[in-house]
Amino acid sequence: MNIATTPSYVVPAPETVSVPVRGTGARFPVHRIYCVGRNYAAHAIEMGGDPNREAPFFFQKNPNTVVTGGADFPYPPRSSNVHHEIEMVVALGKGGKDIPLEKALDHVYGYAVGLDMTRRDLQDECKKAGRPWEIAKAFEHSAPMGEIVPASAVGHLAQGAIWLKVNGEIRQQGDLNQMIWKVPEMISYLSGLFELHPGDLIMSGTPSGVGAIVRGDVMEGHVDGLGSFKTKVS
Ligand code: MN
Repeated sequence: MNIATTPSYVVPAPETVSVPVRGTGARFPVHRIYCVGRNYAAHAIEMGGDPNREAPFFFQKNPNTVVTGGADFPYPPRSSNVHHEIEMVVALGKGGKDIPLEKALDHVYGYAVGLDMTRRDLQDECKKAGRPWEIAKAFEHSAPMGEIVPASAVGHLAQGAIWLKVNGEIRQQGDLNQMIWKVPEMISYLSGLFELHPGDLIMSGTPSGVGAIVRGDVMEGHVDGLGSFKTKVS
């Protein structure tokens, strides 16, 4: 009789994707990645939407889209219009269902600066055809991010500059206080649709100024309180 204490797998088990946590020497394991669409009014308008008539919404990326440690962002295949979207990333330390608004921030472990890289040409085709967005949003390496900074060190971030430079020039600039759905609202709303887990990341939407990158560009993203991170398009 074969009494195994750990399962044996028929193919190699996937590795746990993780993000370094500043000042700890430890890492944050990634469970799921939720992304908010059109959460800054000026970006909703530049994408052809009307923020007064259309609420933000969610989609997902896969955990293995994360790029850390300043590694390059490889230009993805099957696209000739890949856009940067600078975003604040919220890292959940506690999960739950139906989390009330006033308790939502208790579920936050920390924050990071991240990029929701997008194959805009494929996304436009998906929108026209009424199809889902995975091919535009959930490709490998589509979520480069900096270190997670614990809320115990930085507090909870509701205002402050968020910007992206490409080759040293400002492309996107906004303030966290321009978010339509604030962080507690995102957590509370999502927890009504899904059971949230420690290890979940929420990419909180991008300010206006999204645009295309090319191989060789260096992107530098920043959020006040979290500092900056860089990744090169290779
Ligand atoms: Mn986005």
